[in-house]
Amino acid sequence: MTRLASTDRDKTPNNSVARALVVIGDRWMQLILREAFLGATRFETYRERTGAARTTLTKRLRKLEKEGLMERIPYQTAPLRYEYHLTAKGLALYPAVVMIWKWEIRWGGKDAHLPRALVHRTCGHRAAPILSCRHCGNPIVLGDCRFADGPGAGYEAAPSRRLYRRLNSNSHLAGSDGEVVEASDLLGDRWSGLVLASQFFGVHRFDEIQQFLGIASNILTDRLRTLVANDILRRTIYQERPPRFDYRLTEKGRETYPFTLALMLWGDQWLAAEQGPPVYVYHKSCRRRLGAVVTCGKCDGVLAPRDVSSVPSKPAK
Ligand SMILES: [Zn+2]
Ligand SMILES: [Zn+2]
Repeated sequence: MTRLASTDRDKTPNNSVARALVVIGDRWMQLILREAFLGATRFETYRERTGAARTTLTKRLRKLEKEGLMERIPYQTAPLRYEYHLTAKGLALYPAVVMIWKWEIRWGGKDAHLPRALVHRTCGHRAAPILSCRHCGNPIVLGDCRFADGPGAGYEAAPSRRLYRRLNSNSHLAGSDGEVVEASDLLGDRWSGLVLASQFFGVHRFDEIQQFLGIASNILTDRLRTLVANDILRRTIYQERPPRFDYRLTEKGRETYPFTLALMLWGDQWLAAEQGPPVYVYHKSCRRRLGAVVTCGKCDGVLAPRDVSSVPSKPAK
């Protein structure tokens, strides 16, 4: 078991996706943020809409406040009651939250509270939200981004054990029974998020992923198996003896790109160390450093939280 004691196991490349996942890589955090963008401000409203238990909700709201994503503002003094509002740092997560929602709608989120559509009040249409470049306005697609080392490139400790345990106790994600995996499950596990992110950097073979992430092979095997079972990655053999495999994104997997990228850009802006982001992302279309906004697929206007209303989920057929 000496390999497990190796310090390499506890190192991962500096990565803004990973940093963002440490902050919001939890199902409840994502649900609370989504409701905040849909207009919730009070404890009871969050509780009703997310279905979270009181203690769960209290803990998450506290964390959101501590991380600087929300602020608590009193609205009543006797007894003292607070409203929870997104700060600028919290509001900047909008593209990521909308893209997570879009993915869950397409790929079968089971959450009863999930709104079925967003209406863009400016144009009056149901908006098909698109992640677009802030500079040139073109939709951001996988092949149109170039990655280069940023000033914050390097390695950092991986505080992953707690998350690892949680994933193992999460039977429907760990199992291979074909049950739907939700974005929040994926993102709730730092290693799954990182394995996914490595795909976007063009790293596809087992050995390469292991080296790229500094991940233990048993953990990598486990995550790849889960991602394949959930039809997010497809495995193909590229060498017979000994058998070696290559992992590629399926369509469902490729569509995680907008939210992974949006999380990364948010992490670059809000969680980077002093020297700057670990990776620079350039948009090939306009050659500028990538910045993302969400636009409306109908009128091309920028979607802001205040311009959007939600269509509640319908009862199942
Ligand atoms: Zn551009
Ligand atoms: Zn519109």
